Order: sequence, then structure tokens, then C-alpha cells
Amino acid sequence: MVEPALTSDDLTREAVALDAGDPLAGYRGRFVVPDDDLIYLDGNSLGRAPLATVQRVNEVLTSEWAGGLIRSWDERWLDLPVRLGDLIGTGLLGARPGEVVVCDNTTTNLYKLVQAAMAIRPGRRVVIIDRDNFPTDRYVLEGVAADRGLVIRWIDDTGVDGPGPEHVADLIDEDVALVTLSHVAYQSAAIADMAAITEVAHEAGALTLWDLCHSAGAVPVDLTTAGADLAVGCTYKYLNGGPGAPAFLYVRDELRPELRQPIWGWWGRQEMFEMAQGYRPQPDIRSYLTGTPPVLALAAVEPGVAMLVEAGLPALRAKSTALTGFAVRVFDALLAPRGFTLGSPRDAAVRGGHVTVCHPDAGRLVRDLTAAGVLPDFRAPDGIRLGLAPLTTRFTDVSRGLARLAALAD
Ligand SMILES: *Cc1c(COP(=O)(O)O)cnc(C)c1O
Repeated sequence: MVEPALTSDDLTREAVALDAGDPLAGYRGRFVVPDDDLIYLDGNSLGRAPLATVQRVNEVLTSEWAGGLIRSWDERWLDLPVRLGDLIGTGLLGARPGEVVVCDNTTTNLYKLVQAAMAIRPGRRVVIIDRDNFPTDRYVLEGVAADRGLVIRWIDDTGVDGPGPEHVADLIDEDVALVTLSHVAYQSAAIADMAAITEVAHEAGALTLWDLCHSAGAVPVDLTTAGADLAVGCTYKYLNGGPGAPAFLYVRDELRPELRQPIWGWWGRQEMFEMAQGYRPQPDIRSYLTGTPPVLALAAVEPGVAMLVEAGLPALRAKSTALTGFAVRVFDALLAPRGFTLGSPRDAAVRGGHVTVCHPDAGRLVRDLTAAGVLPDFRAPDGIRLGLAPLTTRFTDVSRGLARLAALAD
């Protein structure tokens, strides 16, 4: 509820107390923070740089590359995509060992998995996705649909709460091969009910493909229990892998023997160094590799993920909901009276790690806010997205950042 009595000073005092009681507060010191006064509210677009990552990349450059040269492929690098995949999969996604691999980018992995899924549902000509999904997800699906002569059924107008099982149930039938959705909506942060939606899809014989870009590292994901078939996600957001860091993909173990990805590269082939004629896919998750991975970028993913796994998802989620809950309180006190509306769910149980506030003048406000040392994300047409990273965002970043936003809207 709106609490008009709360002032900016009250909220600052509350934020200081919350920071003082934050069990994860110490993690911020394990990141490179050149400007402690900068208010960074975009950790879900590009996570901060862990100190250990700087050290690790330096080690790969000087010791493994310069020193080890070609020997480092065998000694250090060949199994990196699978090792990292297991760390992310078992540590953060509720996957079993051997179900996740790190490679390519999210877009390419989406393409690989959509094509693979369509190939094992021959005769079914329909795919389902929502209009509010991230552009690349929509475009990849449209591209595959054009290629294979498929029909897309769009989930429309789900608003702040995102797509639910009822939206999928309305559209699904025996012609549907695949339902592809984001687990956490990139605009509103609405969390989709993965288990319930997957059940609706499976009852009709369709597969599910989940985009976990805004889930991994901030929101508990249990791919195994939810019965999810396929998933993708990037590592440069909450996982702090660095700009352009390679993405991950998940293939449910039971599906793997049947599925085949469309890019037949040498890294996915059995006995790749035999350089033999003809393609025979690896019998495991390595069949989803394509060509030589970017080792520097791949190595940079590990320290950030290891830190998140060390902190543990229960603690990460607790901090995350406390941060977003506090942001909603500040919104009620300072922004709602100034003509802003809330673009995210009020119920923390169905809200991911960011909060979007909407204002007709959002574009101008974000420009001015950036000039004032606060970095949020502008999401056209009217969204200001506040990404709150549990390991690095302080409650005082929220109170100070939103007080500045309120002042700019006066
Ligand atoms: C960030 C993001 C992507 C990014 O895809 P890339 O191939 O890494 O550019 C895809 N999907 C969602 C939902 C995202 O939030």
C-alpha cells in the first residue's frame, strides 16, 4: 500500500539499516568497483567484474596461453565447456551433471535447440511464443518458422504478470511442436510457472524451451523437477561472465539420444581429432558444441559463477526479493505520487531480480539519471528497468538512485 508519510530521509535510514544487516554485503568487496559512488542499477544487463576474473584471465593469458601454448588445450581448455556447464547446471539451474554445456551465444543456442526440437516433432506445424518475449527469441522463432513453413501462435497482452499456463492452454493442440518462453520476463520480471506450463505442453505432446537469461543466478530454477525439455541463457548478466561471454544450453538427458542439433561442427563430433570423413555426433552434451570456443571469454565465466554457487541460491534469492521489495516501497513513496506506474508484479513470489517503473518521459529521465551518476536501463517506450544484483547492489543504491529519479521528475 502507498505510505505517503515515508520521506526520502526515512527510506535512506531504512536502507542503511538493511545494508548493515545484509549477510551478503561482504561480496561487493570481491568485485572491481573503481567508483563506489556510482549507482549501478543495470547488473542484469551486464554484471560487474569479479576480482578473481581479472586474475583468472591474466593467468590464462600469461601462463596458459603464453607459457603452455598448444599444450594448454589438452591440459586446461578442452573440457572447459562441459565443466562450466556442470557448475552452472548443478549449482544454479537444478540440472543433472552432463545436461548443460557452455558455448556460442544465447541466440545461436536458441536456433540450435528450436531446430532440434522441430526435427523430432515431424508433422506438427505450430510453435507458441509470447509477444513480450525478448526480441532475439521472437526473431529466431520467426526465422525457423519461415525456413520450415511453420505457423506461430502468439500469446498476446499478458501485461505485467507475463504468460501463464492458461494462456498456453488456450492456444495448444496436437499441432503444436514447441512452446518457447522466458522464465523471467526481461521487461516486467514476471516469473512464469515453469512446471505448470511444461505440464500443459506435455499433455498435448509438445516440447518446452525456456530462456533463463534473467533467471540464472538470481531466481531459483529447477529444470529437473519442472520437467523442462530444453533451455538456454546467457552468462553476462547475473552470472558476471563479462561482455559477450558465451552462453549455456540445457538438454534434458532423456531427450538427448533422440535430438540432433543442426550445426554439424567438428567440436560436436566423436573423436574430433581423428579428422575422419562424415559426421557422427558425440554421445553426450558435447554434441551441442559447434567450433572452437573463445577460451579467454569462457575462462572468465567461471569465477563469477563459482561465487554465486558459494553464496547459494537461497541467500541470493532472499537478498534479491529484499532488494526488489525495498524498491517497490520506494516506488510507492517517491515515484507513484509523481506519475510513475509499476511495470513489475507486486507479489515478490512471482517477481524476478529486477523492477521496472514506467513514466511517459522515461527516455529523457534515463538520460538525465545517467548524467547524474545512476545507471538504469531504458526499455522503450516508457520503461525504466532497475536491475538489482544480489552480490553487488546495496539497499542505499536503491534509495539514493530512486530519490534522484524522483527529483528529476519534479
Ligand atoms: C539478454 C537476453 C538475450 C541475449 O541474447 P544474446 O544472444 O546473448 O545477445 C536473449 N534472451 C533474453 C531473454 C535476454 O534477456
